[in-house]
Amino acid sequence: MTEKDLDSLEKEMLVCTQCGYCRSVCPIFEDLGWDSSVARGRVILAYGMLKDRFDIDDSIVETLYECSTCGDCERRCPSNVCVVDIIEAARKELFEDYALEKHKKLADRINEFGNPYGETTKRGEEFGKTPHKAKVGYFLGCTPGYRNPNIAKTAMSILDKLGVDYTVIDEVCCGSPLQRIGGNDEDIKKLVDHNLNSVEELGIETLIFSCAGCYNMFKNHYPEFRDLKFKPMHITEFLAEQDLPLKEFPKTLTYHDPCHLGRHAKVYDAPRKIIKKIPKAQFKEMDLNRELARCCGGGGGLRAAFGDISQRIAGRRVSDAEFADLLLTSCPFCVNNLAFGKELSKSEIEVKDIVELVDELL
Ligand code: SF4
Ligand code: SF4
Repeated sequence: MTEKDLDSLEKEMLVCTQCGYCRSVCPIFEDLGWDSSVARGRVILAYGMLKDRFDIDDSIVETLYECSTCGDCERRCPSNVCVVDIIEAARKELFEDYALEKHKKLADRINEFGNPYGETTKRGEEFGKTPHKAKVGYFLGCTPGYRNPNIAKTAMSILDKLGVDYTVIDEVCCGSPLQRIGGNDEDIKKLVDHNLNSVEELGIETLIFSCAGCYNMFKNHYPEFRDLKFKPMHITEFLAEQDLPLKEFPKTLTYHDPCHLGRHAKVYDAPRKIIKKIPKAQFKEMDLNRELARCCGGGGGLRAAFGDISQRIAGRRVSDAEFADLLLTSCPFCVNNLAFGKELSKSEIEVKDIVELVDELL
């Protein structure tokens, strides 16, 4: 057992003073308006579960899963309650007997195929890449690998244009989806071991990620299983350090901070440094940016199980960016969910991953 379980978090739950400040930031509370749908409500439910104060029913399961694990409540909380740890620990208690159908299927596919989509082709082959020994590795991730191939393609194209000798690895799902929905630690450990063995066999010293979720998982959760013998870097961190001779782009850009890259992994400057390298681009922040950024609603298993809530949250985030020609972000989940929200808000704004624009201009 590597993750904190509910027992070990009892004190953290008791620290919540019920002040209600978390109500001002929670995207689910904004959408549903129920007090149970905000951090303090979920903390009480988790405490009740720990103390066996009630029988579990559908409403309790739904409430604990109607959370995108965005972490904005933790940022706002004056008592520093570790809300996301508490919610994820409660989900671990629930998963075996009460997993939501969509999450159960997702976990089964990860365990059987090594990815949540049930794909059977080897990651990287469809891009004409096979693993070889190199100091730099590129971790495609399930979503760029199978569902947003343009993000993987453009990320690798940039590395090629910069003359980086990099390799893909023999990878499986990073385990983040299981970690977020309360999947079994043993199942997660198998994925961790597979990926770390693949990285170590190739002598990789720096491993680059396009997906904020994969990067956060490697950076913040993998060390709970095994020490890392390499440096994980989000691609924005890697590119921010490079000389990028980019073409002009005379448009107004804004940037959405993915929760798992920003609040969880504290990467805020790197994407902005890249945008500042684009000649003639006008960069304008949304009102809620960096650690205050509003969630896109795509994470924590929310989109898979509660697509309607997820889409409304994304629609509100897209509306924040209406002044811009192009809304950039740096996570395939955010790209997909913001595009999903755009359908609802009928916005004209274009949404892209930052690597797609950089490759176009390089
Ligand atoms: S802001 Fe923190 S202390 Fe206040 S109610 Fe929310 S979780 Fe509890
Ligand atoms: S992590 Fe985000 S969605 Fe979940 S309770 Fe906190 S603010 Fe709400």
